[in-house]
Amino acid sequence: MIKVGVAGAAGRMGATACDAIAQAEDLELAGRADPQLGIELAAILPECDVIVDFTQPHAALDNARACVAAGVHVVIGTTGFDLGALEGLKGANIVVAPNFAIGAVLMMRFAAQAAQHMPAAEIIELHHDGKLDAPSGTAALTARLMAQASGKPAPPIHSVRLPGFVAHQEVILGDVGQTLTIRHDSTDRRSFMPGMLLAIRRVASLESSPVIGLERLLFERD
Ligand code: NAP
Repeated sequence: MIKVGVAGAAGRMGATACDAIAQAEDLELAGRADPQLGIELAAILPECDVIVDFTQPHAALDNARACVAAGVHVVIGTTGFDLGALEGLKGANIVVAPNFAIGAVLMMRFAAQAAQHMPAAEIIELHHDGKLDAPSGTAALTARLMAQASGKPAPPIHSVRLPGFVAHQEVILGDVGQTLTIRHDSTDRRSFMPGMLLAIRRVASLESSPVIGLERLLFERD
């Protein structure tokens, strides 16, 4: 059994993560930390092999430092903080992914491929009005992957925050007389759970750390 703690356990994503971990036969929900529960991360670290972090941009980096210093692996889903600051953290492994949904990972991959063949692109990301960061981590990573693949500047990103949305993104590519639209919609937070569970199961055996992006685990044989 892998003993898993959740930071941000009372939040929208954290609560969904707790349910998925509790239902997985090979995982044990070993701790739940959140200011709303009055439980600090430090209090659950001794009970855990892996921490899943779905907190807020201001908290994720300090949480990752505390986990690694305690020798506890960490899977970070929180977005909106400087991923570069994770480089060089030693003591345990880190997987960080701005989007754990397989469809979103494929959208990013197809967008990077399409960017090599079409001259211009823009990204529209749409999220619920409780999301703290803009642009989304998924849009920022998509833009970076498209720029890397095409050698062109990163595409502009437009952010929409409205009630009724969960997490959605369109990549629109344009050429003379034609457009190509690649769209992904998460309509339920359970869409992120299979990718999160994969990261939990794999984080202890990484060959190098940090791993940035779920695609590094999904497509490592490509
Ligand atoms: P949320 O509902 O605001 O939940 C965040 C929770 O974390 C809140 O209960 C918050 O408590 C708590 N928290 C704040 N600081 C903490 C700390 N130091 N230790 C432990 N808990 C702490 O947010 P959400 O909608 O669940 O989203 C969480 C993060 O996941 C966001 O960054 C979002 O962009 C990201 N996300 C990632 C994916 C993915 O696939 N990777 C998918 C969806 C969302 P207070 O309210 O008291 O501050």
